[in-house]
Amino acid sequence: MKKIGIMGGTFDPIHYGHLVTAEAAREKFHLDEVVFVPSGIPPHKKKRLISDPHHRCFMVELAIASNPNFTISETEIKREGYSFAADTVDTFVEIYGKNAEIYFITGGDAIKEILSWHKIDDLIKKCSFIAATRPGYDFSNGFHLPSPYQEKVFPLKVTALAISSSQIRSMTAIGESIKYLVPEDVEKYIHVHGLYRQVNEE
Ligand code: ATP
Ligand code: MG
Repeated sequence: MKKIGIMGGTFDPIHYGHLVTAEAAREKFHLDEVVFVPSGIPPHKKKRLISDPHHRCFMVELAIASNPNFTISETEIKREGYSFAADTVDTFVEIYGKNAEIYFITGGDAIKEILSWHKIDDLIKKCSFIAATRPGYDFSNGFHLPSPYQEKVFPLKVTALAISSSQIRSMTAIGESIKYLVPEDVEKYIHVHGLYRQVNEE
């Protein structure tokens, strides 16, 4: 049975917090592959103008190039409308069939809202969740979700990296260095393409 991890996110831009989380999940849960899935229009981020998908995907590609266990899927980018995890997992079930176990990897901030996710009842039957610790969203005392969710959400302790894409965008906008927060090629890409020069948050 193949074990596939799905690492969803806006990745605007991808940073070391994402990469460390994906690698820790791969190792601890013995995943054969972690697929990064950049979102199209994420349902919870309607207010901010999100960078062009082609920039976000390219940065993911640069960031994962050196890890043979990491791949990228553009399924959410290519799908019309909002990006829901339920549709993404359906796509993976179609591709891998019943011969794969699917683990959806999220940071602890996202898992807190899991119960409100679109088609969650359906989703929970098709995959498990890995909920990674993230600075500011600690759940060292465990988390309590009603059955059957609790049984399918596995906590993962990840080396704490207090990095967020929002922070990288705002640092870039005011001309601060983002070196060592994102892979070097991603840093170069951001500068060459003039991304995040303007503050664009709401
Ligand atoms: P933004 O600041 O724009 O919300 P972000 O840094 O939260 O960006 P996302 O693309 O929203 O990045 O996150 C994708 C996934 O990665 C989410 O499940 C999120 O919880 C997780 N994640 C992001 N940063 C970290 C981090 N530093 N440590 C652990 N998990 C993280
Ligand atoms: Mg986020």
